[in-house]
Amino acid sequence: MTTTASVVAFDQVSKAYDAVRAVDGLTLALRPGETVALLGPNGAGKSTTLDLLLGLKKPDSGTVRLFGTSPRDAIVAGRVGAMLQSGGLMDEVTVAELVRLACDLHPKPYRPSEVLSRAGIEQIADRKVNKLSGGQAQRVRFALATAGDSDLIVLDEPTTGMDVTTRQAFWATMREQADQGRTVLFATHYLEEADAVADRVLVLHRGRLLADGTAAEIKAKAGARRISFDLADTVDEAALRGLPFLTSLTVSGPTVRIQSTDADATVHALYGLGVYPRNLEVAGLGLEQAFVAITTAEEAKSK
Ligand code: ADP
Ligand code: MG
Repeated sequence: MTTTASVVAFDQVSKAYDAVRAVDGLTLALRPGETVALLGPNGAGKSTTLDLLLGLKKPDSGTVRLFGTSPRDAIVAGRVGAMLQSGGLMDEVTVAELVRLACDLHPKPYRPSEVLSRAGIEQIADRKVNKLSGGQAQRVRFALATAGDSDLIVLDEPTTGMDVTTRQAFWATMREQADQGRTVLFATHYLEEADAVADRVLVLHRGRLLADGTAAEIKAKAGARRISFDLADTVDEAALRGLPFLTSLTVSGPTVRIQSTDADATVHALYGLGVYPRNLEVAGLGLEQAFVAITTAEEAKSK
């Protein structure tokens, strides 16, 4: 049967743990061949989303479809390769044995030697799995996710514990997988990683989708900057509050901290107040703060 169904389709999917809404009314569709980053801070609901996608957790409400079928059917058909965050590896086996097992279990397997070489782990093939470094273990998990010819590859924070070189090699390999027409979905809390690798970025915060676009679009949306300085004189808060492009202001003693959506204009106007700021610093927002900026903007909009 030929079908134009989405690779992944979430329709109003929710999942709560007691009072925590880990995933909250999520609707999204992934198209064939996309490389998509699921970007969000710790606790945003990334792992829960991927667990729901893989059928490892059941939604409280809503539906999850992969290739127009249930997650279970898609996985049994070998259409999905996954690398989970929490997944323990069997301890007492060697890397080669574990990879061979994964190939045996896949309906459309590659040769184990091919899988080992693609993941760059031939040199450690004979090592016991419980003797690996964090980065090596991640490469083995990646090998398990690419043991066969899957259409969708799902990766939960795959580069955790990898050094810079290993990380680059990993993404080069991943790009080859994508270039062969596969759909790749990976969770990350690194804005830079989403920027460098993904065609499309889904920003998740408290289980809700806050933004869906290219990395450039997301960064522009999270483009606020923070400005800090000290004032020798008594601080005139009212005057500071009148500065243009201000999104937040806190004063503690002589130190003023500001967030602004146009730092150049804010600083220019600051000097225009006739004050003399010392130790002036302007910096980009960290990702967590950028999310707060995006969330605040979203909440203001919905009022
Ligand atoms: P992320 O992967 O983005 O860090 P998670 O999906 O792991 O986020 O978690 C989302 C939220 O759900 C967090 O607040 C987390 O503490 C909570 N959570 C996740 N798994 C469980 C669980 N098994 N039991 C209770 N709370 C959980
Ligand atoms: Mg997680």
